[in-house]
Amino acid sequence: MTCDGFSVVRTRFAPSPTGSLHLGNARAAALNWLFARNQRGAFVLRIDDTDQERNVPSGEADIIEALQWLGLDHDEGPDRGGAFGPYRQSERIERHRELARQLLESGHAFLCYCTRDELQAHRAAAIAADQPPGHSPHRDLSDERRRRFEAEGRSPAIRLRAPGGPIEYRDRLKGVLSIDGDDLGDPTILRADGTPTYNFASTADDIDMRISHVIRGVGHLPNTPKQVLICRALGAQPPEFVHVPTVLAPGGGKLSKRRGAASVLDYRDRGFHPAGVLNYLSLLSWSAADGTEVMAPGELIAGIDLDRLGAHDPELDENKLGWLSGQHIRQEAPEALAAMWRGFGGLDDLGLDEDDLLRAAEVFARRTRLLTEAGPELEAVFGAGSAGCPDSAGEREVLQLVADAWAEAPWRPAELKQAMRTAMKASPVRGRGFFGPLRRALTGRDEGPDLAEVAYALGRSRTLRRLTGKRS
Ligand code: GLU
Repeated sequence: MTCDGFSVVRTRFAPSPTGSLHLGNARAAALNWLFARNQRGAFVLRIDDTDQERNVPSGEADIIEALQWLGLDHDEGPDRGGAFGPYRQSERIERHRELARQLLESGHAFLCYCTRDELQAHRAAAIAADQPPGHSPHRDLSDERRRRFEAEGRSPAIRLRAPGGPIEYRDRLKGVLSIDGDDLGDPTILRADGTPTYNFASTADDIDMRISHVIRGVGHLPNTPKQVLICRALGAQPPEFVHVPTVLAPGGGKLSKRRGAASVLDYRDRGFHPAGVLNYLSLLSWSAADGTEVMAPGELIAGIDLDRLGAHDPELDENKLGWLSGQHIRQEAPEALAAMWRGFGGLDDLGLDEDDLLRAAEVFARRTRLLTEAGPELEAVFGAGSAGCPDSAGEREVLQLVADAWAEAPWRPAELKQAMRTAMKASPVRGRGFFGPLRRALTGRDEGPDLAEVAYALGRSRTLRRLTGKRS
């Protein structure tokens, strides 16, 4: 905590509500959240919605839903308020204008009346004359010319006066970087129509919201010197910038709708375990020193280390994501997993009570990677038409032997397995001749999960009924 009572570390996730949250963006959210939680800081959700034309109506709600599903709870945001609101950028425009005016008054910024065509012509002329093209020709406009432009009815943009010479800025991964102010040009902060640019609005909000760390994709690195200039002009210390490599589509290349950029909520609907997805997003960026891959959210929080962020662009790998989902499914307590399975439906016709589901969760969790796989998995075991009749007296004898052994056994998978082996020893048939009829009687199929586990999941009375055809 600082002396004014606010957390020292304050991170933010600042998506534009222009569509659903895809995995690349969710990765930035995850890192900001993990780092804030690791540092006992605050995680802020800001909706950068100033580009009204690109906003989609359900954008903000979808983003919040996706963050909640991943478990990335925010401390401040448009839906829950906070000391530095409002948290929708569009509601902060007056503040952006006020700060732009301040910069005008302090001489850090100036009015630029150039039209688009004039700017283009100026650029072309500067390039032809081997001069830096990015500065405005109106940096030092006389009062008289200004009045003339005003009289013509032109509205000015407000631009920051970029200094000549090197502008240094720092990135946590890349160290100190530098760009020549002449190459950067004079960044526009307020357009002629009075709307703030992304660089200005974002920087002003980061300052006002006391953001200490900006963790985002390396695609934003070219914006950083402009943002640092804006911070300095406003008399603020720039946040620590952490630009992480870009998440690429499977096989390389940019993520696109058809290549890997499915939304987080699509992964939810396909049955991925949320902690598995969070684990995967985290692994895309950093790994534990001891090589541990499967980590619960609390372990990720404890383990995240910005100094272990990878330097290479990771490729999305759905197979790995599915594997991690499966690892988290098997670590889930049966009660919690049963609730998740129920959420996906498909179990209603199987006539399972809560105990049935808990036993099934206990033994079948590790056979699935996706929560949606529970339906078919359980159908194959519990499905009403599954039990098959024995074909012969020999088979009936096998079933009776096992039924007798299991009738007495403690109803645990290990004990059931032991009892089954003992029964086999007493039987004239072994191997397939023994297990085949048993499996067919229990499940109506020739293949499937471990038989002791099937029996355990079915429960004693269902199992004995299937073996003997009688109610136990
Ligand atoms: N709204 C910006 C984006 O979605 C935020 C970028 C940033 O983190 O500064 O790309």
